[in-house]
Amino acid sequence: MNENAHIIRKPQFITRDGPGSLIETINETRLIFNMTIGYDNSVNFEESFLKKYEINDPRLLALLSKDINKDIKILDILTNEMLNKGSMEVIYKTKRFPRWYICHKKGHILKAHPIKSVLFRPTSDNNFSCPLCHTGMKDSTSVRFVMACPDGHMDDVSWNSALHSQKTNCIRTNNEEEIYEWEAYSTNLASINIRCPYCLKLSKTMKEIFYHPFKCSGLYQERFTNQPPTESACGREMKVIQKNSSALRLTSVINFLEIPKYTSPLGVLFKEEYSTCLAINTLIKYAFTTISNESVKKKMLTEVLRKEYKGDNFDMLMDIIENIPIDDIIQEITMLFNDDINFIDCINDGRT
Ligand SMILES: [Zn+2]
Ligand SMILES: [Zn+2]
Ligand SMILES: [Zn+2]
Repeated sequence: MNENAHIIRKPQFITRDGPGSLIETINETRLIFNMTIGYDNSVNFEESFLKKYEINDPRLLALLSKDINKDIKILDILTNEMLNKGSMEVIYKTKRFPRWYICHKKGHILKAHPIKSVLFRPTSDNNFSCPLCHTGMKDSTSVRFVMACPDGHMDDVSWNSALHSQKTNCIRTNNEEEIYEWEAYSTNLASINIRCPYCLKLSKTMKEIFYHPFKCSGLYQERFTNQPPTESACGREMKVIQKNSSALRLTSVINFLEIPKYTSPLGVLFKEEYSTCLAINTLIKYAFTTISNESVKKKMLTEVLRKEYKGDNFDMLMDIIENIPIDDIIQEITMLFNDDINFIDCINDGRT
């Protein structure tokens, strides 16, 4: 097992440590990727593979489709167990974020920065050393600030634009490493001083940088591994925030209850066969409006079910439908696709 592996349970993944959130490991802070790039090769996003893990609850689908305003599919969160992997095997990747580090290897006369700490960005995961004293990760800590905008974009703090302006362009050349001196007398923001070692006179406290408005980069860090995509401009301002307060998105949790009497074939139909429910709804909306004869309606319903129903209990389902007034079935299906359906409707009706 990788010593940096981190165990995240399903509820945690939903409420706290999901895509875009930052988690602390022993040495550093890691960002959780989106599912499409987070899962390792044992998960592919082909429809045939995902079908096995699809949650086909028509009530949940109807409710969420209404909120999002387009057709959606719901996927279970794949766990080690579901993928037949050992509980300590790594199945989900993360990336180092923020990418800026502070080397604290100071106070040693032989070292290149004896007085001040150095803020630097490792060039890659393989080349992780302070550009001045060449000490590796053990003397460095991940910087505790990132910047974010109200739309959920997040990026590394642009120390360059925080310290320099158009009038005071940095004199650093492209061949020189982008580093900054970091002097912290305490953890208080006003006591942290950051200075460009090339322009020397330019120095700001972390408190000043906290109030500095940055142009938003429009990046969702969870959507890319190394090279950021070209994002369209966001137009909002980014501000510096502490990384441990960087839960930029809040989870909206909807609880559904399972009522045992609805585990009949009809209940299972409402619970698992969204496409069949959709087909019945179309029948009700378009064909039934001109028909009043109950037995004709039941016949048409039977035909739709014969065509659409994929479950094993077709005969049992027919027996049940035979004994329920057609209006009850219409009401049940209509309610499911009613624009005003909400969570309470689902509970009061005894539907899961
Ligand atoms: Zn160093
Ligand atoms: Zn400078
Ligand atoms: Zn933005």
